[in-house]
Amino acid sequence: MRTVIVGAGLVGLTTAASLRLIGHEVTVLEQAPRVRAAGAGIGLWDNALREFDLLGIGERVRRMGTPVDAWFYDAAGRPARAPGYDPDAYRFLMVPRPELTNLLADTAGRDRIRLGTRVIGFAEHDTQVVAHLADGTRLRADLLIGADGVHSGVRAALLPGSAAVPHGGHHAWRAVVPAGDERPAGTMITIGSARTRGGYTRVAEGRTMWWVAQFDAGELVGGKRDRALRRARNVAGSGWHAELLAMIAATPEESILENRIMRVPGLPHWTTGRVALIGDAAHGLSPHIAAGGTLGIEDAGVLRAELARGAGLAEALARYDSARRARFDQVRAHAAAVEQANGAVESAERYAAFSHWMRSTAPTTY
Ligand SMILES: Cc1cc2nc3c(=O)[nH]c(=O)nc-3n(C[C@H](O)[C@H](O)[C@H](O)COP(=O)(O)OP(=O)(O)OC[C@H]3O[C@@H](n4cnc5c(N)ncnc54)[C@H](O)[C@@H]3O)c2cc1C
Repeated sequence: MRTVIVGAGLVGLTTAASLRLIGHEVTVLEQAPRVRAAGAGIGLWDNALREFDLLGIGERVRRMGTPVDAWFYDAAGRPARAPGYDPDAYRFLMVPRPELTNLLADTAGRDRIRLGTRVIGFAEHDTQVVAHLADGTRLRADLLIGADGVHSGVRAALLPGSAAVPHGGHHAWRAVVPAGDERPAGTMITIGSARTRGGYTRVAEGRTMWWVAQFDAGELVGGKRDRALRRARNVAGSGWHAELLAMIAATPEESILENRIMRVPGLPHWTTGRVALIGDAAHGLSPHIAAGGTLGIEDAGVLRAELARGAGLAEALARYDSARRARFDQVRAHAAAVEQANGAVESAERYAAFSHWMRSTAPTTY
């Protein structure tokens, strides 16, 4: 099967590697001139790591990351955890994104990735799908996968009117900095005042990631560092987090990533006969549940498993579509509950409920 994947992000690259495993002749088209090497850290749960195990890179990913045993804190540093959940509901792996992306590009096959190649449309026919490239060329395939992120052009063509929408004034700031003498166990996740969350964690040997996020962040004034610092004060009370404030103050402006958070609305379908959406293109989520990437990797596993059943392309895509959309109805309900939680104790309870649900109902695709 000739498969074209639009987008060489985390999910496009994982999908490429997963589909090569079942014999697809894969081409990844990426508009950027290089596979993205920027980014801070990403928290991955065991349901994502299982797909990496299948690809033969699970151990390498585990070695490049740092296991995080998360606690919730209030702004005075008082820890909270919800009783009744097994400890794994709080455990994930924090992985440096640039290393992960590079490993995935190697696993997908660098020779299968065409950089500097922007897709501007496609035409779907009974027997093939044709990708239209910005340089005027056409690329024929049996299957086209839109892994082109939250502002997906493939989604726009498939489902006009499905543009991503800003998520309630939600903004996030992050950076990876050299590790200092901050608490080795980190401070994930502190719930502060004014709908602000933040903290820091070791992301790899000698490197710490700090992050701050706020719903209803209001007008952004000043430079990125000042904007982050202002919010960080909401998670720093009674001397707690003096080290977070110091870390942010010492971070060069250009090292700070600032994101306005966008969300993809629930979609009536993710696939047609020869086209499928995957990852953020299908379900761009708010990162306050820190699981968009993990669930995108899960998408790749489900798509691979359905295509491997040999029941025909249309049926495989239909099964993928219905399984994943049903799962994301639940994800959205959990995400709303976590967003509306009041304080560290309730946040811990709702987050544990989400991660327990996500892990205990993860599809078995291997
Ligand atoms: C602040 C923040 C923190 C997060 N933390 C976590 C976390 O801890 N854990 C977690 O699991 N998830 C997390 N996420 C979510 C996670 O980052 C995303 O879900 C994931 O990166 C999406 O990957 P993707 O490959 O679907 O999309 P993207 O990474 O957006 O990749 C899309 C690619 O498509 C390319 N592209 C777009 N249009 C075209 C075109 N027309 N032609 C060719 N190429 C095109 C783009 O250049 C890009 O390379 C976080 C997100 C944010 C914003």
